[in-house]
Order: sequence, then C-alpha cells, then structure tokens
Amino acid sequence: MPTMKNRELDLSEFPAGTVTEFTTLVCLACIFDIFTKQLGLAPRTAFSEIKRHTPAIEELTTRTAKRPYFDSDEKHPHCPFCGSAKRWLARFDTYCIEGGKTTDGPRRALLKKMPQAGDQFLVLEKKSDSRAVFFEWLGTLRLNLDLSDERWLLDATRNYLERRDPKTNWEEVFSEIRTVRRSARLPEGWERDGERLFLAPKIYGEALLIQYLVSRSQAHGGMTLEGRLTLMDLIRRLRYSGYLDQIGITEHDPGEIFEKLIDHLASTSDWSRVSIPTSRGSDRVIGSKKTTKKAAKKSTKSRKSKTTAPAQPDEIVVELVKLHYIIDRRDFLEKVKSVYAAYAS
Ligand SMILES: [Zn+2]
Repeated sequence: MPTMKNRELDLSEFPAGTVTEFTTLVCLACIFDIFTKQLGLAPRTAFSEIKRHTPAIEELTTRTAKRPYFDSDEKHPHCPFCGSAKRWLARFDTYCIEGGKTTDGPRRALLKKMPQAGDQFLVLEKKSDSRAVFFEWLGTLRLNLDLSDERWLLDATRNYLERRDPKTNWEEVFSEIRTVRRSARLPEGWERDGERLFLAPKIYGEALLIQYLVSRSQAHGGMTLEGRLTLMDLIRRLRYSGYLDQIGITEHDPGEIFEKLIDHLASTSDWSRVSIPTSRGSDRVIGSKKTTKKAAKKSTKSRKSKTTAPAQPDEIVVELVKLHYIIDRRDFLEKVKSVYAAYAS
C-alpha cells in the first residue's frame, strides 16, 4: 500500500493560486443502500455500477454536498447519514486548474504522468466566466483565513497581490511586513519600508475591496485595514481616492457601482490570467502587465514603481476561462473493492 503522501499529485509547477483542491467523502454504505434498496439492483450489479460512478463536479466542489457525499475535517470521520466508520468511507480528491498560458504546460505534463489504467483519474472541462472564477477564489480564500486573528487582513492582501502580480515572491515580502498602508506618492506599484508595505492608491483600494468581500456580512459591512466599513463607506473611500474615476465608473447608485467594481476586479487579466486579447480593453491590461513584469525582473531591491502614463479607464470585459478538473478516484476504487468483498462474503 503506498502511503497517502506518495499519492498526492505534484502541483509545484503551477503558479500560486491557479489550482484549487477539494476533498469530498462518500459513504459506501449509503451508496450501496441507494443502489440496492432504492434502485433495486442486485449487489453484484450495484457493485459494477458504483465502480463506474463519479459524482458531478458540483457535488465534489460545493460545501453543501448531499447524501451519500459529505465534507468532514475530522481525523476519524463518520457518515453523517448512517454513522458508518472509516472503512466505509472513500475520498474523492478534485483539483481544479484554471486554463491559461501559465498552466497549460504544467497541466499537460501532469496528465502525462498520471496512471491511465482503470479510470483511476477522470479529467473534465468546464467553461466559466471570470466573475464565477473570482467568486470561487474568494470563497476558497475565506475558508483559508482565520477572521478572528487580525493577521488575516495581511494574508488577504498578500493573496490578492499574488493574483495581481504573480512574478513577485509575496511570501518573502510579507514575512517582514507588519502594516500595509496607502502610499501618498506612488502612482503605481508598491514599496517596502522596513515593516511597512506601501501600495499605490489603486492597488490599496482593491485590497480594501477584497477584504470587504471576504468579511462582509448582511448587517455589519466588512472588515478592512481601515476598520469596519459599510458598502457606502467603502465606495466613498474609493471615490475620494480617485479609483472609481480611474477605472471609469461614473454611476451613482451604490448597487450599480458595486456590480461594476466586481466586474472590473474579476475581469482584469491579472485575476483570471486569460492571455488572449480580444479587445482594446484586454490589450491594455496585458500591456500594463508586461511593464510590471519587466520592473519586477530588474528590481533586486524591494522598491518598484512605474513611470508610465497614468492608467486610463479599463473597459469591462467578461472573459471566458476554461476550468480543468482532475478527479482522483483511486481511494474510491480501492474502498469499493474491499467493501464489496466484505459485503459479498
Ligand atoms: Zn452512510
């Protein structure tokens, strides 16, 4: 029996934040029950049907799975529906890889290395728009943050910067950072001064927006580096800092502004890493990304700023992103086999 460690897929070739992992448990007692009692199949037929079975992507990646699927963080989980213990429980690991130039190579290499026999892995594709990708990213980020520890504000900011500028080693930058502030003089980019990280107003504004989105609740707004803000507070700050003008939002209704903000954030190439320019809007974003890359390469100091012309309002482009799902069925196949052996004897 190989250990779990050896069985994990090597995802080290993928840029940070482009692969999302999901684990879902399935109770084989429940699934056998469904196939034999509800569907009336003989155990042997049920066995061969179940072996072929793969849950839908939604069941593998949402946190509200239905019988016979469930999620559990416990070390010794039990089925919440029938109480079955570990040997009846199988695990599906799902890896969602965002399609794009930076992930195509590593993804093909990974698929080549995976065992092909016996449907141990299943590969599916799904098209998604940048907004859906963005919200999925936000949901995962929220799950990985401890909102009761103030440090989460820095973690959320770092995660956002990793998406915006993947060429910089943000892990290293943040290892010494204690506070993040809005820069009064940087037109673009960022600058580190000891334990303080200064962000250009536009980047700082987007970091606040991310923090707001991660922590917002119906009644109390969201927590940010500037304290708890309602949507109105947040919009006011973004307006005064010039951010709304900069990205071409001229609306006055808070709801409409909010929608435009989300679309803007979700559709910039830095977020979704879709690199096929289809309009002037995309071109511009990609152009500005290149400048950032160049600056990142030549700077060995932790100082960086851009001297290019002031940013023009970006056009809102909803870009289609292809999501590649790799479903690891190995544990499931093994458990089905051993459970059937017990069942049939
Ligand atoms: Zn069960």
